[in-house]
Amino acid sequence: METTMHKVSKDTVVYAMSAKNKPVLYANPSETIQFETWDALAGQVKSADGGLSGLDWGRVNPASGPVYINGAQPGDVLSVKIQCIDITDTGVVICGQGMGVMGAHLEGVTVKIVPIKDGYAHFSDNIRLPINKMIGVIGVSPALDDGDIPCGAPDYHGGNMDCKEVKEGATLLLPVNVPGALLAMGDLHAVMADGEIGVSGLEVSGMVTVTVDIIKGKDLPLPMILNDDFVMTLASDVDLDIAVDMAVANMVDYLVKNAGLPPHDAVMLVSLAADVRICQVVDPKKTARVEFPRNLLPV
Ligand code: CA
Repeated sequence: METTMHKVSKDTVVYAMSAKNKPVLYANPSETIQFETWDALAGQVKSADGGLSGLDWGRVNPASGPVYINGAQPGDVLSVKIQCIDITDTGVVICGQGMGVMGAHLEGVTVKIVPIKDGYAHFSDNIRLPINKMIGVIGVSPALDDGDIPCGAPDYHGGNMDCKEVKEGATLLLPVNVPGALLAMGDLHAVMADGEIGVSGLEVSGMVTVTVDIIKGKDLPLPMILNDDFVMTLASDVDLDIAVDMAVANMVDYLVKNAGLPPHDAVMLVSLAADVRICQVVDPKKTARVEFPRNLLPV
């Protein structure tokens, strides 16, 4: 069977997810699309010298795209299967005054360039971290009435969720809010821990290969992630407590509506078996997720 491979260049980026963005290409369901992406700093930081003094903040958090998915209509679910993430061999991590959880306690800004080799990020001569490649920014257009959402922000449309489970092998489910969905992504990380407390993962450029599909007639509490082991709900709010409550309510809603569990059983099982985790606390909306083991889903 002939397969179509589309490619989105990092020369075509957006800085906000918006119904007004012009598609850079059109793809059919089940086709494969490669997104070439900048790092979150748009490749501007190549050395540790000078901190971020020369940085054009207007170019931060570019997302490559958007791609119009033929046939996607508001009310549908867009399924994005992440087939492959290729990253460059050098990453950038930053921290400093005014940034992230510790920003009030720091002076100045520090930039570290981290080589990536043999599956590890070499933070220093004696500290290396196994890489865990992930997509920080991935989303679709919000509904027309909701205006533009900057790529640096997470919300119901996806965006800057900075969730380390958005990685190879996972399938991200997003709501289609406008015709064509308008999928865009960027902001790859070689490594990042839950929280992303310093406001930076190990930021890398790269190439993401995805297969997209449209799911019609399903009322799902989105965004969601599926992998071999878990079904996950994600929610974002300026208040982490509210983000957690939303992600939990979404999981219970999913189990009741889509897995057929009575509400009290669903709550008990989430309480017993589903871990509540934090994706990030710095974007500035915070993103929480709930991970429910798939082997407990009724068949
Ligand atoms: Ca990010």
